[in-house]
Amino acid sequence: MTENLTILGSTGSIGTQALDVARKCGFKIKALTANSRIDVLEEQIREFKPEIVAVVDEKSATDLKQRVKDTNVKILSGNQGVCECAEYKNADTVLNSIVGMAGLEPTLKAIEAKKTIALANKETLVAGGSLVTECAKKNNVSILPVDSEHSAIFQCLQGKPSNKALKKVILTASGGPFFGKKKEELKDISVEQALKHPNWSMGAKITIDSATMMNKGLELIEAVWLFGVTPEKVDIVVHRESVVHSLVEYDDNSVIAQLGVPDMRIPIQYALTYPERFESPVKELSLADYGKLTFSYPDYDTFECINICRSAITKGGLYPACANSANEQANLLFRQGKIGFLDIARLVRETVDSFKGDKDYTLNDVLETDLYAREFVLSHIK
Ligand code: NAD
Ligand code: MG
Repeated sequence: MTENLTILGSTGSIGTQALDVARKCGFKIKALTANSRIDVLEEQIREFKPEIVAVVDEKSATDLKQRVKDTNVKILSGNQGVCECAEYKNADTVLNSIVGMAGLEPTLKAIEAKKTIALANKETLVAGGSLVTECAKKNNVSILPVDSEHSAIFQCLQGKPSNKALKKVILTASGGPFFGKKKEELKDISVEQALKHPNWSMGAKITIDSATMMNKGLELIEAVWLFGVTPEKVDIVVHRESVVHSLVEYDDNSVIAQLGVPDMRIPIQYALTYPERFESPVKELSLADYGKLTFSYPDYDTFECINICRSAITKGGLYPACANSANEQANLLFRQGKIGFLDIARLVRETVDSFKGDKDYTLNDVLETDLYAREFVLSHIK
């Protein structure tokens, strides 16, 4: 269980909820990092009194240093600073809630420093799954899932991910804001429409990933690495209410599910208190108030990103990294109003189709693949 915590990406949706959990559970905060939002970071420094803080943006780091010079905190900058926070000696647990594959190197640094990892940053596992899991094995470090589906599966497995009788893991998907729509109807979707998620309030990137259902594709890959299952053993079922957070099926066809109201503070807290359970401010689940829960098959033709990811992890090697980076770039271009909604999946598909990389890889290969995919996307905007 956590005593001394570092949060990477503390100003984001998961980061701020993790601080809320830390406040209630009484965890000490040792280090915090963010990209640039120093107003929020300054408040966090004054309340939680971390020993070191890193800001990626150099100018914001200089401004922050000035603002908090009446405190004892040490301010670092750049990716180097984030990595120093990840391995900071006084913490036992690192919660990584950075968005995107920028979280990969800090995760590896934290593992090498033998920190327990609470992982929200799914792109870390998608881009560098074999690097991360091998590094964790070598250093005897646990990776505890924060993503709600994976936390659910972890709970259903009762902490035994290598259960031999495990037949399937079943990820639930809300279906996002465009559930039931066909491709034709999604051509002119605006950024505002895509940012309206029915059940969860999250950062902008993952909200768009939920609308394209790339998020479920990324989660499929995340499940493969976290639970050591093959891609065929990961099923997806659409469940609009987001109450059943995911399920596992055993060889005897017994299915176990984890349920709760959709609130990320439950999986965040479980990753930090594991193997204990603490009280939570999250609302109790009243099934009778819901009345009924619904389930249906995903529409793989309309939401083609799921199958692009399934095929990428089946091919293995650097294909998942390629799909992830193409998506990061396309998702950003969509949010900037530079491409249409359907262009996201098209660009991810075209990038992966153009790519060759089914080999074992190093961190450097992942970083090169990232550059390749981003450049491919930028040069194929119509
Ligand atoms: P967010 O955009 O709200 O926050 C991202 C955080 O990362 C911020 O603190 C930001 O400062 C930092 N950051 C951004 N770019 C960075 C960079 N290049 N280097 C270092 N730090 C950087 O995102 P979020 O919604 O909190 O999601 C964080 C991660 O958690 C994502 O991987 C997401 O897929 C995953 N996740 C989020 C939710 C959710 O409910 N928000 C649920 C499940 C999983
Ligand atoms: Mg999820």
